[in-house]
Amino acid sequence: MAGEYCRLFLNDDKPHEACGVFGIYAPGQDVARITYYGLYALQHRGQESAGIAVSDGNRIICRKGMGLVGEVFTEDILEKLQGSIALGHVRYTTAGDSIIENAEPLNFYYRDGMIAIGHNGSLTNSAELRRELEDAGAVFQSTADSELIVSLIVRAGAKDLVSGILQAMEKIEGSYSLVMLTEKRMFGIRDPYGMRPLCVGRLQDGYVLASESCALDTVGAQFIRDIEPGEVVIIDEHGITSLRPHKPHRKALCAFEFVYFARPDSVIDGLSVQKARYALGRQLAKEYPLDGDMVIPVPDSGVSSALSYAAERGLPFSEGLMKNRYVGRTFIRPAQTIRELGVRLKLNPIKEIVSGKRVIMIDDSIVRGTTSGKIVQMIREAGAREVHLLVSSPPVTHSCYYGIDTSSRGELIAASHCLEEICQHIGADSLNYLSLPGLHAALAPCQPDELCDACFCGNYPI
Ligand code: SF4
Repeated sequence: MAGEYCRLFLNDDKPHEACGVFGIYAPGQDVARITYYGLYALQHRGQESAGIAVSDGNRIICRKGMGLVGEVFTEDILEKLQGSIALGHVRYTTAGDSIIENAEPLNFYYRDGMIAIGHNGSLTNSAELRRELEDAGAVFQSTADSELIVSLIVRAGAKDLVSGILQAMEKIEGSYSLVMLTEKRMFGIRDPYGMRPLCVGRLQDGYVLASESCALDTVGAQFIRDIEPGEVVIIDEHGITSLRPHKPHRKALCAFEFVYFARPDSVIDGLSVQKARYALGRQLAKEYPLDGDMVIPVPDSGVSSALSYAAERGLPFSEGLMKNRYVGRTFIRPAQTIRELGVRLKLNPIKEIVSGKRVIMIDDSIVRGTTSGKIVQMIREAGAREVHLLVSSPPVTHSCYYGIDTSSRGELIAASHCLEEICQHIGADSLNYLSLPGLHAALAPCQPDELCDACFCGNYPI
């Protein structure tokens, strides 16, 4: 099968983020290129497809493809995307299939012109809504929630697009952070629970919307604020208009954004992701003050918590596992023998560091337990005397229905195994997870009742 491209998820024991969205309204600037860099900053949120839609004021054109941002867009393609408003999207499939038809932005003609849409999240009532619309004669080109949302907006029979958006928001349930374009306007919409992040920034005379503030920093935009749960912002030649059509609602920002998904240099709803991860490590040290010779992280997302755990315990921090940063998610199918090495393609222990040592290893989460066992085994083979695994989040016991692929419940190791069984399964000398109250304490000032923590406890907000 040499030469055939396949998808190998070498770090597959992690939940997968659904998408990243980026929008820019900036007449006179190279909006497609700025969007390209914005998507680069959001690449961690989705690696299956990437797309950019641009409006020149009269029509919207869209280019997208399967793969990473740098694989999909060439200089030639960006040259042809000229305009003053743009929308970019990176996708990982959690709803719908991983096919080009579902890659976003999706672009439509409707009664009053054109609409392009990019969505981060997942609707919980999409099956019912789709059936209702199909019964009424609607046809769909994709299985993506975004097409459903646009169909609801344009079929609302409203006098204008904004009224159609507000009516559609009455019907859709679940998580959604949306960026939409028409020929002359850009919209940012966050669901009433505020499950997925969305923020707005200023770039010279223009405005930028992004899933995470790291994308604003990357393109040189100044952060203004997070879009509030249930808020609709409209950006056009008159500036920003904000609508809050929904009554205040229980907020439910995804706690996993802080544990794993978001980039450490992002700030979400006032909380720095990096500071949150340091706090998770400190909390872990309070709950499990282990003795060992060194603390090592599972790179990259375990690094911040491992640093603060080591500092709190007064233990040396060391990089005992080296990550190959050039391994993508898609590459030439390896020979069977190489494939069996699995995680070694991505992570390699440094024998000279861990040999003879009692190692405390910090990871951010365990979903299925498939990778953790291999990593523990590698560290042992490299000569470690003991391997103690600490996880900076509680056990993942429930599936996510809000746009994160945490696997089905049957695949979640903590849904069907107790701590001792999981420890035995992965072959560690000890295993401990952060408690749920510990997670809440570390994510202060976000209040526990403002967070979604359903995958850790089954308390689903919707
Ligand atoms: Fe995030 Fe878990 Fe809630 Fe899903 S269930 S939104 S992953 S906290």
